[in-house]
Amino acid sequence: MDSDQTDLIIFHKNLRIKDNESLYYGSLRQNYRCIYIFDPKYWRGNGKSVRQLYFLKDCLLDLDCNLKNLNSKLEIFRGDHFEFYKSLAENSNKYNLYFNHTTDINYYNAQHCKFTKIAAECYNVNIFKDFGVQRGAETNRNQWSKFWESQMNQKIHDIPMPNKYNKIKKELPTISLETFLKISVDTCEKDFLEIQTGGTEAAENLLSTFFTERCNGYRFKMSNPLDARDHCSRLSPHFAFGTISIRYVYQKLKNELLNSNNRIDLHSFKKRLHWHCHFIQKLETEPNLEFNSMHSMCDTLRSSENSELIERWIMGETGFPFLDACIRHLRKYGWINFRMRAMIMSFASYNLWQPWQKTSPLLAQLFVDYEPGIHISQVQMQSGVTGINLPRIYSVLKQSMDQDPKALFIKKEIPQLKYENLDDIHNAEIKSKYPGKVIDHKLSAAFARKEIWNIRKSEQFKNISKQVYLKHGSRLRRSIK
Ligand SMILES: Cc1cc2nc3c(=O)[nH]c(=O)nc-3n(C[C@H](O)[C@H](O)[C@H](O)COP(=O)(O)OP(=O)(O)OC[C@H]3O[C@@H](n4cnc5c(N)ncnc54)[C@H](O)[C@@H]3O)c2cc1C
Repeated sequence: MDSDQTDLIIFHKNLRIKDNESLYYGSLRQNYRCIYIFDPKYWRGNGKSVRQLYFLKDCLLDLDCNLKNLNSKLEIFRGDHFEFYKSLAENSNKYNLYFNHTTDINYYNAQHCKFTKIAAECYNVNIFKDFGVQRGAETNRNQWSKFWESQMNQKIHDIPMPNKYNKIKKELPTISLETFLKISVDTCEKDFLEIQTGGTEAAENLLSTFFTERCNGYRFKMSNPLDARDHCSRLSPHFAFGTISIRYVYQKLKNELLNSNNRIDLHSFKKRLHWHCHFIQKLETEPNLEFNSMHSMCDTLRSSENSELIERWIMGETGFPFLDACIRHLRKYGWINFRMRAMIMSFASYNLWQPWQKTSPLLAQLFVDYEPGIHISQVQMQSGVTGINLPRIYSVLKQSMDQDPKALFIKKEIPQLKYENLDDIHNAEIKSKYPGKVIDHKLSAAFARKEIWNIRKSEQFKNISKQVYLKHGSRLRRSIK
């Protein structure tokens, strides 16, 4: 490569220094610039939200700080990929471009794909893997687990080389991180109380406290929202923004498993790292899952929406105290445990019988850890539209009794219920001033069960399910939640 070429490392969701393939290779000639493309249209896209933007802020500040130790820094380009391409083409510089692949919503895929195609005509474009997700021609469902293991066991990439020159030439219209944060993040009104801290340092701390103490009892405590808060790893937003690599966590975990007293808990965690990529693979293989049900016959099930029902659901005003408490908690803190997410989604899709395409983005906006591949696949699974998973309708009353028997969580989130009788709370029979039940949970579940099983019994349904399984189904015998 010529020495007059500049290496541009483009960040999207790999906001870390350690084990970052594109940054590592882009740094080798020690003449590189680090750019984050902030596209306002992407940030208004499916499931994106202000709370995720605030988490991003922490991640970018942390990344910039670490880059400064490498005699580099983060520059921000504000615009879409095409505008970025135009600004590259406006000068005569020769660039080598480095990216890590991301499985994302269609808006991003389309932008990125177009960009790399036209950029490859003039520049050297290098795209690297991230996660254990197969891409393009290498996709082979039967070999998926083997592929994943081999990705996870590869050597962790070294710390990037320091930059030789840190004087930023002005030929690209980038702005400083400080200016960007002032105009694009700090002006956004917060719609949450408190969310997790972003950045690699926070991720490393979570990993360390999870291994040393918090994982004790993980496999039981993950089910109820009060215990799960402290006893789950809480790494999900960090994986979503790439402040820590899955491979790094996996290798640390393998080491931990040799001596830990909590080996059974850590084995449960290990399975979930696998699931992370398993679910993202589905969207990578079939990007239209953002809009269409995995099983094509299921899109006719819920043909119309009721915006009033959806509004009461997403605001936590359904009249079912435990469900409302979970949603209100999520609205404040941007995270809730797996089981409660599944129950929230199941209620919208089965009891309220609303199309998942309408409810999914609203729920995603509440998650700081929104990861389209996991979210969309899980939403479809909890709505009974995959054709390859048995439909599971959660009973909000049973979950209330099982997960919060003393109603501690409910009373914390909904203080007006502080003096209500326990039975009334669990049975959603509140006599004082509280929203009335939005539906009859038994009748609505029976209706949903009938509709779902009606469609599932035809030969045509079963044949399509086989195709879905071949494309997306896990080949492991153990069940995937
Ligand atoms: C409707 C619905 C939507 C969801 N949306 C998201 C999402 O947008 N982003 C997201 O990261 N997770 C999502 N999940 C999966 C799961 O709830 C979260 O990964 C988990 O609660 C995150 O907390 P944690 O990091 O403490 O998890 P831990 O229990 O500590 O697990 C460690 C990691 O394993 C992965 N993982 C755990 N459970 C699952 C699962 N069931 N499927 C796939 N990967 C899993 C995650 O990367 C997680 O960070 C969703 C689940 C449901 C039912």
